Amino acid sequence: MVRTFDAIILGAGAAGMMCAIRAGNRGKKVLLLDHATAPGEKIRISGGGRCNFTNLHTSPSNYLSSNPHFAKSALARYTPQHFLDLVERHGITWHEKTLGQLFCDNSAKDIIRMLLLEMQAAGVVMELQQEIASIEHGDGTYRLRMGAGGLVQAPALVVATGGKSIPKMGATGFAYRIAEQFCVGLVETRPGLVPLTLDPLLLERLAPLSGISVPAEVRHGKTSFREALLFTHRGLSGPAILQISSYWREGDAVEVKIEPSLDVLPLLKAARNHNGRQAPQTVLAEVLPKRLAQFLAETAGVTAQLADLSDKTLDKLRHAIQSWSLTPAGSEGYRTAEVTIGGVDTKELDSRTMAVKRVPGLHFIGECVDVTGWLGGYNFQWAWASGHVCGDAL
Ligand code: FAD
Repeated sequence: MVRTFDAIILGAGAAGMMCAIRAGNRGKKVLLLDHATAPGEKIRISGGGRCNFTNLHTSPSNYLSSNPHFAKSALARYTPQHFLDLVERHGITWHEKTLGQLFCDNSAKDIIRMLLLEMQAAGVVMELQQEIASIEHGDGTYRLRMGAGGLVQAPALVVATGGKSIPKMGATGFAYRIAEQFCVGLVETRPGLVPLTLDPLLLERLAPLSGISVPAEVRHGKTSFREALLFTHRGLSGPAILQISSYWREGDAVEVKIEPSLDVLPLLKAARNHNGRQAPQTVLAEVLPKRLAQFLAETAGVTAQLADLSDKTLDKLRHAIQSWSLTPAGSEGYRTAEVTIGGVDTKELDSRTMAVKRVPGLHFIGECVDVTGWLGGYNFQWAWASGHVCGDAL
């Protein structure tokens, strides 16, 4: 028996659930399919378990895409305030952590529960643990055969199966295979918001710093982020590194400015006037973690007592702290990347409906599209917004 729906949505993640809610509320008969055992698994683990569900300062400039204008329409039609209103209607308490980032007070599971309640109210049929064996399109209908043998059909198919990041959590890159089946163009994919690794020699030198977090400005070309940098046993992480990783390309250097708001040179000169017998690392240890101060002074080869150091030498030390250029060996890849950059080419899509222009009834939403947000709630906002406008158009 073939079961017929108005729309079939693949992927019960943030984008798929939001799309299902909107379409269901408009009276559409919606089937939401996922191969996982639970919906919204990435929501559950997001934001350290508290889900950074949106960012109040969301604007198209917070996204990477081959077409920076593409996200404008959806982001304008479904704003952070719309999602916040939904959160508040469900009595979920939240807090702003920093830079407009909104988190649940209690747990990311509150967001999943809210979406499930909304789906139930909208009459959405959700089926989990469903492998899709094949998708056929003809006579204005999409026919999907399940691995278990069932057959479902609808005039509209929405692909919301996310990217390739964290395969352990069920990421498959399925959306790209569907795009290829329908000859929909793809922009090359790569891991984003991912820790960067270092070559073994540098890693060995940095090993004593593992676990240290410092404020930093990390720059790649014209793009820079001022947030925390974390030294790890594999390389560099922390928000500043995750942010720049989305812009970084293999072989490129990044510039690191540790404690960017600190004026190091006047600090060292004043210390030299006050007590010239101190070592520079002793002075630096007042404003930096001790192990880092020691490492930076040794790396710059500036460890004599301050009285013996010229202005030029002190400037060399400042340079080591605030103009550190390093070339990462690579990234930790999709295994730990929070997002996949690239994906379904936005040239193929109508930005108001997320429909493929050349293939009637086919839509792509969420992370599988070539729109990737910065760290800080922007990726969920894109998932909600693209899902909502698509659900509006089904
Ligand atoms: P997904 O959430 O990945 O959902 C895709 C769904 O499709 C999944 O349920 C999956 O099981 C299903 N699926 C995949 N393949 C198939 C298949 N072959 N057949 C059937 N179903 C399939 N963003 C933020 O904005 N704030 C945060 O705090 C945040 N924290 C994060 C923390 C981590 C550790 C990670 C990995 C990501 C985080 N992100 C965060 C990014 C955010 O999770 C994603 O951008 C967002 O989940 C994308 O939503 P989506 O619905 O497009 O895809």
